[in-house]
Amino acid sequence: MMLRSPAGNPNLPPKSIEEPARQLPLYGEYEVAILGGGPAGIAAAVAAARAGRRTLLIERYGFLGGMGTAAGVTNFCGLHANVHGRMHRVVQGIASDLLARIDRLGGLNAPHLIFGKILAQAYDTAAYKIAADDLLLSHKVDILFHGLGAGVVMHGAHRIAALVVETKAGRQAITADIFIDCSGDGDLAAWAGARFEVGDGNGSMLYPSMMFRLNGIDPEKAGEAWRTIPALMEAAEAAGTHHFPRKAAIVRPQRSAIEWRVNFTQLARPDGTAINGLEPDDLTRGEIEGRRQAVNAFNFLRTVPGFENSYIVDLPPQLGIRETRRVVGGYRLTGDDVLGCASFDDSIGVNGWPMEQHVAGDVIFKFPPIPQSRGFNELPYRMLTPEGIDNLLVAGRCASMTHEGQSAARVSGACFAMGEAAGSAAALALGGNTLPRDVAIDRLQAQLKQHGAFIGRDQAVPEGL
Ligand SMILES: Cc1cc2nc3c(=O)[nH]c(=O)nc-3n(C[C@H](O)[C@H](O)[C@H](O)COP(=O)(O)OP(=O)(O)OC[C@H]3O[C@@H](n4cnc5c(N)ncnc54)[C@H](O)[C@@H]3O)c2cc1C
Repeated sequence: MMLRSPAGNPNLPPKSIEEPARQLPLYGEYEVAILGGGPAGIAAAVAAARAGRRTLLIERYGFLGGMGTAAGVTNFCGLHANVHGRMHRVVQGIASDLLARIDRLGGLNAPHLIFGKILAQAYDTAAYKIAADDLLLSHKVDILFHGLGAGVVMHGAHRIAALVVETKAGRQAITADIFIDCSGDGDLAAWAGARFEVGDGNGSMLYPSMMFRLNGIDPEKAGEAWRTIPALMEAAEAAGTHHFPRKAAIVRPQRSAIEWRVNFTQLARPDGTAINGLEPDDLTRGEIEGRRQAVNAFNFLRTVPGFENSYIVDLPPQLGIRETRRVVGGYRLTGDDVLGCASFDDSIGVNGWPMEQHVAGDVIFKFPPIPQSRGFNELPYRMLTPEGIDNLLVAGRCASMTHEGQSAARVSGACFAMGEAAGSAAALALGGNTLPRDVAIDRLQAQLKQHGAFIGRDQAVPEGL
């Protein structure tokens, strides 16, 4: 190895080490390889495998669920829409199968109302992990846990030949005909050279949060404490006893009402911009500061009636990252699309979640008009097809959206829908010997509907929750 100062190369730090070229063992050869096992990756893997394609899902942790488990989110948003004042579950298909499995394990709450306008649904992380394992294995998806995607080998400028992963057995390569980037951060797309955007254009992104859960709460005494906590926070700040990094704390019960999840923190850099989930030093600071903020929040919450004897039962494996790269595809979903309940000829699913902007010190929700509107926008297939890379699809929070559009369609519901569409499209492309971006939209839409997905268009809105 040689330490050198790369004179004149602005892309390299002043000091770098040259890594000698080496042969990599081949972990496996697949038709479809998916990086990341969050909501998008879970649905993409099941959709590709149920279409008969040899499918591998690669995940850096030892469990599935993405931010939903790894960052302790414990709550599904975006499964429902407020359609002219009535609630419907508009994300179906593979998400329904997963929800049913979580429910059978006793790990799913009934949906709860937020701001009197939209539903969300809490779950138990252990049940989610187990249900997701079962779902993938029952569809014969191969899983590689503890595999950290680390780079790609390209075949020319437009085709990915292999994904490189770091494992406990060393660095290995995975080949596939089609790759789907469900890493949330657009890692695979970025390594392949796809164009991406980051943040709000002013050096910040949606702010991350360190989630945590409390146990030992007295449910009767706590009652509907989520209604009183905002006023108690204001009073505590006015009295000077506590200071909070943001308003709009979300503190709600889990399935057992002695346990509540707490979404209260906000992680910023010293200059006030959001911690950047792509920067190792930022992530390190964010984890430590996130835990410090969790303790501060806990010290305040212990003053809330019913919380006096509570304790922190869980700090999740990682800081919750809401937004990093957004890979530019054939269409970028915008905030106006969300607020205007936009329709698209190439719709592959829908989003019923409002814009949820985690800005400095606050969380701002913006809804489509209720009850005047149908309360959901369609998601065009073009969000999943990155420019320039022929055998790549991107699904989930790193799909093609503007900063504003991503603040809505990043939540679990839309990510399940995008993932299911990406996996189905990959299988269709392989069957038709065509590029993913050129698959016949009517065939993709017909296949999604046949498997129970709701894609908007001329379909009746599904009844029930
Ligand atoms: C604090 C917080 C609160 C939230 N609250 C809610 C909520 O209440 N309801 C809701 O629905 N949504 C919520 N969200 C948003 C939601 O959780 C995410 O946007 C959603 O999980 C995105 O799904 P995804 O599949 O696109 O990506 P992710 O969930 O981020 O999953 C990506 C997966 O890829 C893996 N991965 C990443 N890079 C690599 C790599 N290089 N190699 C291998 N594996 C890799 C990760 O480990 C992860 O498992 C919240 C997010 C945060 C951060």
